[in-house]
Amino acid sequence: MKFEKSGYHGIILSDYGIGLDSSSPNIELNLISHAHADHVPRDRRVSVITTESTRRFMELRGFRGEIKTLGFLEPLETEQARITLYPAGHILGSAMIYVETDEGNLLYTGDFRTPPSPASEGFQLPQNVDYFITEATFGLPIYKWDSHEVIFEQIRNFASRTLDAGETPIFFGYNQGKAQEIMHALSPLNHPIQIHGAGYPLCQVYSDHGIDLGPYDKYNKDTVADAILVAPSSVQESAMIRNIRNKRIAYCSGWASHESRRQQMIVDELIPLSDHVDFFELLALIKTLQPRHTWVTHSPNPKVILHYLRELGYSASSLDMALKEED
Ligand SMILES: [Zn+2]
Repeated sequence: MKFEKSGYHGIILSDYGIGLDSSSPNIELNLISHAHADHVPRDRRVSVITTESTRRFMELRGFRGEIKTLGFLEPLETEQARITLYPAGHILGSAMIYVETDEGNLLYTGDFRTPPSPASEGFQLPQNVDYFITEATFGLPIYKWDSHEVIFEQIRNFASRTLDAGETPIFFGYNQGKAQEIMHALSPLNHPIQIHGAGYPLCQVYSDHGIDLGPYDKYNKDTVADAILVAPSSVQESAMIRNIRNKRIAYCSGWASHESRRQQMIVDELIPLSDHVDFFELLALIKTLQPRHTWVTHSPNPKVILHYLRELGYSASSLDMALKEED
């Protein structure tokens, strides 16, 4: 099956007039996998198709183009193809895009996580995948995640210990997706949570979807010391953090599996909570799918996963795209 790269993340199936996370205004059907900034068209006037939650996130984040929505597992028929969105387990609204054609069936993952994030619609695979385009952000054998149960317990423990010591727990996590996952993990503590202003409006989409984020409010400098603060790591040098006198900070990210981050981030606890698949789950998934060919994208070193796949007898190659440290 023929396709071209388009821009930073995009892929174009030009024979079918289909774009996958593409910014091209010349493509008839531009499907968007999820609302992280690096997957959404730069040109905000492009017309796109995506899930309802992703539509809401994109609009909240300033996208002004036309957005049509497509439900999960509701096929969209074109003259030459059938397109279906499958839940990707990465963040709320995230979808894998499945394109069935006479040439074979292609699955494009966007970013995905299996087992899925408990703050997402879950994860589901289509039946027959001939061509597989997969992200491999953590596609090295040093990456193996603990279960969400274990990580969520670590999050609650850190918060409880810090509160018991009379200090303010601060969690660093990306404003879209990671922050809400942390809040969902904290919700059983029933302790007030404050979230960074840019992440706050996105929480409503989660609440409307029935995902419990605990008793949360927008960051308020006058009351934050009595709450649990959830904010992106980009604020670590800011007054928001400096003004909280007694605090302990936890960094929640797949990258937190590197002990070196403790000094780089100046944090008290590293919690490897990732919304991307780990190396072993990715291999297991390819064994389940048995695709005719796999293209790997966003890998820190594609040679490693390609080596493992070829050893296992799979046809695979790298679709070179820049790795972005959003997780
Ligand atoms: Zn993402």
